[in-house]
Amino acid sequence: MTLELVTIPCLKDNYAYLLHDAASDETTLIDAPEAAPILAALKARGWHLDQILLTHHHWDHIDGVAEIVEATSAEILGAAADAHRLPPLSRALVEADQVQVGAEIGYVIDVPGHTVGHIAFYFPVSGLCFTADSLMAAGCGRLFEGTPQQMFDSLAKLQQLPPATLICSGHEYTTANLAFAATVDPTNTALHARIREVARQRAGNRPTVPVSLSEELATNPFLRAQDPYIRQHLGMADATDAQVFTEIRALKDKF
Ligand code: ZN
Ligand code: FE
Repeated sequence: MTLELVTIPCLKDNYAYLLHDAASDETTLIDAPEAAPILAALKARGWHLDQILLTHHHWDHIDGVAEIVEATSAEILGAAADAHRLPPLSRALVEADQVQVGAEIGYVIDVPGHTVGHIAFYFPVSGLCFTADSLMAAGCGRLFEGTPQQMFDSLAKLQQLPPATLICSGHEYTTANLAFAATVDPTNTALHARIREVARQRAGNRPTVPVSLSEELATNPFLRAQDPYIRQHLGMADATDAQVFTEIRALKDKF
């Protein structure tokens, strides 16, 4: 049995996710941008919340924690490195630590770059990875604290996951991310197909997440620094992959 995933739009363009295990009736929340839509999603399904997994300390991922804990008494799990700036943690996590939803194990992956303490949660049996503002749909998070090399290394770890893994990221930024992607990878037909698909999804007010890692590998320029056409397009045929990634990140910041 795999876990049931619920995607919850929050605030202007954030996502929170619920994971539910039917056998044990356990429910886990990943990130808490605001309480109301999350509590409503729990109530609609008659689920009780057991724990909250936090990806990083930014307000738009934790602002709902206090109200949700008040209503549910859920435990709070987050990065040990950021314990001083996260809500009070029930458990502090480091890379490769295990979390559990019912019988299913999830693993903590350190993915610094957007912030230095950013972590992701990977559930191999259900094939889900919660990446928040590290690997994002068609993009990656802005480098508020980390270096380009740190984000490059973080994304390299996530690229090792099975291609069918569904990437659950933290924001609905996909349309803008794809518009930028088309400027560095203009001849990529998979990218143009995705732009059309995302336009249809957004016209119907549907989330563009989660999305498979294989789709990201084919269309996300931040995972494609090795691509000969992108390198040629940027005039960086002889650069290292990390240098190409750094240039793509700099171009996105100016886009
Ligand atoms: Zn953030
Ligand atoms: Fe965010």
